[in-house]
Amino acid sequence: MSGAAGNAAAFRRGACPTLPAPMATGDGLLARLALAGPLTPPQAAGLAALARDCGNGIIEVTARGKLQLRGLDAVGAARLAEGVGALGLALREGLGIETSALAGRDPAEAFDPRPLAAAIAQAAQVAGLADRLAPKVSVGIDGGGALGLAGRDLDIAVSPAAAGFRIAAAGVAIGRTPAPGPVVLALLERLAALGPQARMRDLLAAEGAAALGAGLVPAEGRVPSPGEPVGRHALAEGRHGAGRCALGLALPFGQIEAEGLQALAGRAAELGADFIEPAGGRALVIGPLDEARADALAQAAGAAGLIVDAADPLRRIAACPGAPACGSARFATRALARQLVRGLAGGRTVHVSGCVKGCAHPGRADLTIVGLDEGAGIVVEGTPRDAPVRIVPFDAAAGVVRAFLESELG
Ligand code: SF4
Repeated sequence: MSGAAGNAAAFRRGACPTLPAPMATGDGLLARLALAGPLTPPQAAGLAALARDCGNGIIEVTARGKLQLRGLDAVGAARLAEGVGALGLALREGLGIETSALAGRDPAEAFDPRPLAAAIAQAAQVAGLADRLAPKVSVGIDGGGALGLAGRDLDIAVSPAAAGFRIAAAGVAIGRTPAPGPVVLALLERLAALGPQARMRDLLAAEGAAALGAGLVPAEGRVPSPGEPVGRHALAEGRHGAGRCALGLALPFGQIEAEGLQALAGRAAELGADFIEPAGGRALVIGPLDEARADALAQAAGAAGLIVDAADPLRRIAACPGAPACGSARFATRALARQLVRGLAGGRTVHVSGCVKGCAHPGRADLTIVGLDEGAGIVVEGTPRDAPVRIVPFDAAAGVVRAFLESELG
């Protein structure tokens, strides 16, 4: 895609930032990379160097496991694109088709989702579907392993069923089939016919689950649970040898600085790891490692401030970049989030959002603090778009929220 065409694509309503078409934010341009495969440790270190040299040195992993680099200008964005090519990083293009970070390596998977994902991607490309669908339309192929895709805002999800594959449209099971590829492509064609901004929830509302699932067997089988990437994950013996695992680490608020990623990649390489894969849930999954080496890497990552324990309260607080990084933010979200994390007990979830868009957390949280024109809105068991129970001045938000956490939420 030419630069002009790329920029035009970026201005499609709801378009996602990409490497050729980065998005303007409060701290410069943001480029998102959808990797086609894992990074090697040297590639991760190289990408960190590019983040520092071409942008502001901040690398993010999104809730859907995509990489973002921030603080670019036009020249830096062009140099980044060249540098990514020089590192040999393959990027996914076209329709968004997601699989888990451990796809094909996970012994708990009922099937390897990658061949099906590749076949659907190729057929969608031949049919020109990406140009006829809303930019955020995505398909998830869930092999049923440890890092399930449940909880993501997928338009279509395929997961294992007792006999065949379960198909869900906008999170609603519509049936089971032995041949999911043609079913997914037919659903995408129906979605495209509804209009270039339509999402599957619109098609579901217009036609109903029964109509969308006509010709399918009623859905059965378990719904894959959302995977927690933080911790150890067994790896398939055939590919990695016996007793090997991958170590999942989460990034506080989804961010790591270039120096931190370079140090992590260097230590991973010293310990013999050959892949670093961004994972859904703002995490990195690194392997293969034996138990002792996984311990050593976890120790180094924890000392560097990464989240190595799924029970860490930082894991339950989501905060978007906020001010000054985002021009839409009404306040410094992460500063408030860090003040709140110490008092976060009892498994409660908190979402701190600079505006009603709610980029950091698509679902509900026990408590949401949202930046509004009038001040900080406090929403109980909802999203940033829900009605707040109180609106308080921004500089009073930390104290009020602590009181909520200690009393109102019990
Ligand atoms: S939620 Fe609002 S303030 Fe936060 S990153 Fe998204 S657009 Fe910016």
